[in-house]
Order: sequence, then structure tokens, then C-alpha cells
Amino acid sequence: MAQREIIILPDKHLRLVSKAIDKVTPEIRKLAEDMFETMYAAPGIGLAAIQVAQPLRLITMDLAKPDENGETERKPRVFINPEILAKSEEMSVYEEGCLSIPEYYEEIERPARVRVRFTDLEGQVHEEDAEGLYATCIQHEIDHLNGARPRDRCRLYPRGKTRRAPRAYTAADAGGAGGTAAEHPGFHAEDAEDGRRARRVSRA
Ligand SMILES: [Zn+2]
Repeated sequence: MAQREIIILPDKHLRLVSKAIDKVTPEIRKLAEDMFETMYAAPGIGLAAIQVAQPLRLITMDLAKPDENGETERKPRVFINPEILAKSEEMSVYEEGCLSIPEYYEEIERPARVRVRFTDLEGQVHEEDAEGLYATCIQHEIDHLNGARPRDRCRLYPRGKTRRAPRAYTAADAGGAGGTAAEHPGFHAEDAEDGRRARRVSRA
């Protein structure tokens, strides 16, 4: 495995629409391995191939949470040619970060649940219902495959108004709403209890 360089704005590659993968070749497996190494090192919870300058419809993700000892058993997942088949009308808001936009965090509203179809590294096709962080992360990454950046999705606030540096997650935050963000290493959260729902920050 080898780490690859994560491209950042204003790199024009981030505007490309990634191409479907016809066949899971050794090169695709190698790319996925490298993406995991790159993603874990960042650290991030998700990565699209275009973020390492490969315009292919391939996503890596790991949403594993640490156990009570703070140990995290990795749960790497690969999504090839992922598609959103259905979206809930209900929306949810996460404060998202992006590995391709350093120091950029913004509240983004997306469907709370989505049905997703994808192929795994063995060539098997799956359909799953995603909710919570999974739903947010897969939508964030599919945006990357389609050449969109997270800020394109921001509907709650005018661009630039919510830009701020994140602070580290504290124990006090964990008592807020769910504490999910605290359970992810490398995450930050702000205003975990704001009377509506947790606003969480992840980088993907
Ligand atoms: Zn991103």
C-alpha cells in the first residue's frame, strides 16, 4: 500500500465527473488499498478516488467507532459505481468537513436516509438503506464523483457565513445529542446540543 496525495481546491480535477468502473481489476484493488491508507492517515471517514486525482467511481469509507477502551476496530468499506436509488423527504443537517478543502466546515442539509446500490471489490452488487452518518457520508462522496463540492450543497446559510475553524470535541459534547461524533477519532463537533439535533463534523 502507498499513501497518495489528496488534491485540494482549487485543483480542477475536483470538478470532473468520474467514470464508471467496468471491471474490478488488480489496479482498482490497489487504488482502493492506497485510498484506505490515505484516508486513515488524513484522518478521514470517507474518500472518493477523484480526491487522489483518479476520476473513477470508487469510494472508500470507514465509520467504525472506538470501543470503551478507545480502540477502534477498522471497518473498511468499498463502494464501486454507487448510485442513490431513493431519498427520504426528511432532511438532516451535519456540519461537514472535506479532506479536499482544508479548514472548511459547513452545515449541509441532505436527505436523512437514502437507498444506495453499489458494487464491492468482489464484483457483488448490493442495495442498502443508509441513515445517519452513513447516509451523509455516502452522499458527500457521490457528490465528489459528480464533480460537486460540499459547499455547492449548502442551503442553510449564505456561503462564507458559517466558515470557522473547528474546535476539538470535548467530553461535555458527548453528553449532548448522541455523542456519535465524539466516538470517531479525528472528528470535531460544535454546539452538539443546539435544541434541534447534533451538528457533527467529519472530513470525507
Ligand atoms: Zn470531501
